[in-house]
Amino acid sequence: MQALDPLSQHLRLDDGHRRALARLGLTTIRDLLYHLPLRYEDISEIQSLAGVRVGQDAVVYGKISGLATRKSWKSRTPIAEAWVEDSGGKLKVIWFHQPYLAKMLRDGAYVKLAGKVSGTAEKPYLANPEIETLGALPAESGQSLFVHDGTEKKTTETLYPIYKETKGVTSKWFYHAIQKLFRAGALDALADPIPEEIRKQYTLPDLRTALLWIHAPRKARHTEAARKRFAFEEVFAIQLAKQQARAEVASAEGYHFATDEAHIAEFTERFPFSLTGAQTRALGAVLADFKKDAPMSRLLEGDVGSGKTAVAATAAYAVATSRPEHGKDWGNVQVAYMAPTELLARQHFFSFIQYFKHLPIQIGLITGSGCMKFPSKISPAEPTSISRAQLLKWVANGEVPILLGTHTLIQKAVLWKHLALVIIDEQHRFGTRQRRALAQKNSDTAEKKKMPHLLSMTATPIPRTLALTMYGDLDLTLLDEMPAGRTPAQTNIITAEQRAEMYAALETELAAGRQAYIICPRIDEPDPEKQNALIAKSVKAEAARLKKDIFPHWRIGALHSKMTPKIKAKMMADFQNHEIDILVATSVVEVGVDVPNATVILIEGAERFGLAQLHQLRGRVLRSSQQAYCFLCTDSRGVHTSGRLKALTTSENGFELAERDLVLRGSGELYGARQWGLSDLGMEALRNPKMVAAARQEAQDIVSKDPTLESHPLLCDAVSRKRAELHFE
Ligand code: ADP
Ligand code: MG
Repeated sequence: MQALDPLSQHLRLDDGHRRALARLGLTTIRDLLYHLPLRYEDISEIQSLAGVRVGQDAVVYGKISGLATRKSWKSRTPIAEAWVEDSGGKLKVIWFHQPYLAKMLRDGAYVKLAGKVSGTAEKPYLANPEIETLGALPAESGQSLFVHDGTEKKTTETLYPIYKETKGVTSKWFYHAIQKLFRAGALDALADPIPEEIRKQYTLPDLRTALLWIHAPRKARHTEAARKRFAFEEVFAIQLAKQQARAEVASAEGYHFATDEAHIAEFTERFPFSLTGAQTRALGAVLADFKKDAPMSRLLEGDVGSGKTAVAATAAYAVATSRPEHGKDWGNVQVAYMAPTELLARQHFFSFIQYFKHLPIQIGLITGSGCMKFPSKISPAEPTSISRAQLLKWVANGEVPILLGTHTLIQKAVLWKHLALVIIDEQHRFGTRQRRALAQKNSDTAEKKKMPHLLSMTATPIPRTLALTMYGDLDLTLLDEMPAGRTPAQTNIITAEQRAEMYAALETELAAGRQAYIICPRIDEPDPEKQNALIAKSVKAEAARLKKDIFPHWRIGALHSKMTPKIKAKMMADFQNHEIDILVATSVVEVGVDVPNATVILIEGAERFGLAQLHQLRGRVLRSSQQAYCFLCTDSRGVHTSGRLKALTTSENGFELAERDLVLRGSGELYGARQWGLSDLGMEALRNPKMVAAARQEAQDIVSKDPTLESHPLLCDAVSRKRAELHFE
């Protein structure tokens, strides 16, 4: 058996299996062995429904039946109800305020429910439990298990691996398929990519042992050791890729600018504010980078409103007004500023005009739907629309030193004269390859070898270990200080009893001419297709309910991901123009949404969000000097939940909150986890700063001696796989 053998060569697969495995991206023996369990069920702790008592927090497994929605007859609260049944008994389940749950589940589905048993001894029910749908109920103990020495043992262990499932393959299927591969010699087919010295140094089990321990554990401590190893392996592979990128940039030639402090001050002193200490420090780091031999690779992390644009504009100014060093003659050097959406690109274009209006520096804007330039001969005070061809010509001959835009900026058609600085806003996948490609577009052949400086910026609050990993090729600068005089949002946690009072407060704000966002939660559900449909439904349903029962006299709009871009844009414009008072939306309210008149954000099911994400949502209403309000609605009374949400009422620092997320919640829930494509295990590694530091150090050592990983072929393979998986570079 070989690592890359197709699974069908060693397992009997029907069409359903094939489709399911394809959906999970599993084709080879290696793929399946690296499909690691998400967690384990300790079968000995499953609560039988026959034994539940009122007042107890219970975790139960069973089959769902009798799903229905209705309104409670007293309070008219919408509720979803059902029965859950196991071999020992049957229990009623009630979800208040979440009627859409009934539509998510199907009668006959297997579920895991965790919640409080409420009601009376005669009429007990499970109240608002967390739900997880399962492909099958956990297996029984007492099965035959393949063990390390190649023999079989009857298990008395009760740890049962739970895998990421999809229709057609259950955890049980994975469990048995992997056992079968073990028996057929799969463990000998895989070579360990982690060098032995490193394994020894960090006491990590070798690959063979770790695979056995993770897929068929006999002791809890074995699963931990194995998980630690795979977590290290993942972070190590990413770090190697990032260190390779870093080494490549370090050996490239950059544009050298000797900066003159007085010259920079001429620009910053015109700002209608003085720079914060953090802005000054960030600028210092950037200007110091411009003096070095190698091009800058810097990440500027700062909450929304921390003033990244001022730093970016000053960096752009330093470059656009630079004089070439003695003996070098590159003339007009240029700056590219890339934003994630058209809306944001335009917004930044107009900010830049404010910063540069006193200078004879041409600024261009290029987006899919049009181009502009400032200043122009026709109207010196305002930007004018120009043709794309004309703008591209001026960029190519160097007449336009600063060009802002969307992804269009890095397209083939855009040629530069001397592109010296690239500023990137919220683009997590902009990598060395794009940067190299940009350098190739310089007209001067000597400069094709040069690499432009890179200033990447993000407001996505992530913990430091995640930043060090996913941005391992960049130097980090934190803008951890807000401009003075900002009033933080008043943040309140709202329970079911306080709802009426909250709606009254909202009413007051609306009556004062302000606007509000109401955010509906994303529900964890395995099938993303279905999930979207459900989000759409809950947003629509909530908008309808508010219109009918709570705010009949206000104009209410709904925004969700299932809408066409055109309708979305129209809805946003309506909200922006105050033709809508309340916008009911999912958490994916467009990045560029900036409506200063919106002063209230109400978040339903707040306990379902990470703190960092709640913090970012709250940032939507911090766009003016008006007092802003944030209501976090939760039906969950768990001490854990309220303690967690309380952090938001006391902290306004997104990065601090992201660190708390990492400690408090499961790591799989980290905000932004999806966009990085890290596995849950990789995320787990991030909770361990020592491990991240170790992986980084080891990667640095290896890459400094062997930049192409020529003498580490197994590692080289592992890195390529990781690259392909994460689509970076
Ligand atoms: P970010 O891009 O980090 O979200 P911006 O650069 O857009 O933030 O700045 C947000 C607002 O704060 C802008 O209106 C900007 O003019 C203002 N601002 C920036 N720096 C300062 C400062 N040091 N003091 C006061 N206001 C500032
Ligand atoms: Mg910004």
